[in-house]
Amino acid sequence: MAGRFAPSPTGELHLGNLRTALVAWLSARAAGVPFLVRMEDLDRVTSSVEHEHTQLADLAALGLHHDGVVVRQSERFHRYEAAIAHLRDQSLVYECYCTRAEIRSAASAPHGPLPEGAYPGTCRDLADDERAERRAAGRRPALRLRTHGETVAFVDERLGEIAGAVDDVVLRRGDGVPAYNLAVVVDDALQGVTQVVRADDLVPSTPRQVLLQRLLGLPTPTYLHVPLVVGDDGVRLAKRHGAVTMRDLAAAGTGPAEVLSMLAASLGLARPGERVAADDLVERFDPATIPPEPVRLADLQRSEP
Ligand code: GLU
Ligand code: ZN
Repeated sequence: MAGRFAPSPTGELHLGNLRTALVAWLSARAAGVPFLVRMEDLDRVTSSVEHEHTQLADLAALGLHHDGVVVRQSERFHRYEAAIAHLRDQSLVYECYCTRAEIRSAASAPHGPLPEGAYPGTCRDLADDERAERRAAGRRPALRLRTHGETVAFVDERLGEIAGAVDDVVLRRGDGVPAYNLAVVVDDALQGVTQVVRADDLVPSTPRQVLLQRLLGLPTPTYLHVPLVVGDDGVRLAKRHGAVTMRDLAAAGTGPAEVLSMLAASLGLARPGERVAADDLVERFDPATIPPEPVRLADLQRSEP
């Protein structure tokens, strides 16, 4: 049994990422299970080892120490390929030759209960000669999961039961890189992760991941999705919102202790301005105190000591 934080090392962690990491760490510590960190560096163009180091240093500065070695997805492609092979054996994999633009225009047509932007199934039933034609034109196929319009439900510890229709999710991109939804499912299972804590922008992906778990014969962990931190314009936190990383904040005179205090207050775990250590928060941790709405940067900053 374990909990985990799974950042993409494509930049510095911002306050939203750090707040989610704090919840993931608290959830693991409160349950007395190991807390793992996994680097989701499937995209090797945007990922870097420097970002990994900075992210780990930021977590450590807040007192969010991890257990065991840090795993990198870029070193585990063979495991994802084994899972694809397992799905292929069940005739659940097909080649998709669509470009992004083709999917966008096809997906804008109404197609029943599927979520917006869902893959409309264009390549599901291509004949051999149609496939050969596309291949001859130099297109490299992505691999997709053959679904059957399933609606899959899961229970979130904060949000309760959530059901979503599942589309033919990508398993491997056209450039050969395994897809996020597959990698996350394989890794959580192989690492013994029993609690998934992450940002709530991934709620719509969770039914897909639960379906993949079932098809691969893997267990389903518990889920706790944490609301995002947004800028004062209501948009998900980004560099342009100002001092949003530990480095920016330190330069502005706000050190790790103040950052932890702000994050704890925003989660209902400390009074605004109260000095706390991460370890002190473990016994206060309760997913029910996490405010349901996205937190605005200005509100976070208001509780700075
Ligand atoms: N790597 C993803 C992210 O940084 C998180 C994936 C997950 O926690 O399942 O948004
Ligand atoms: Zn297609």
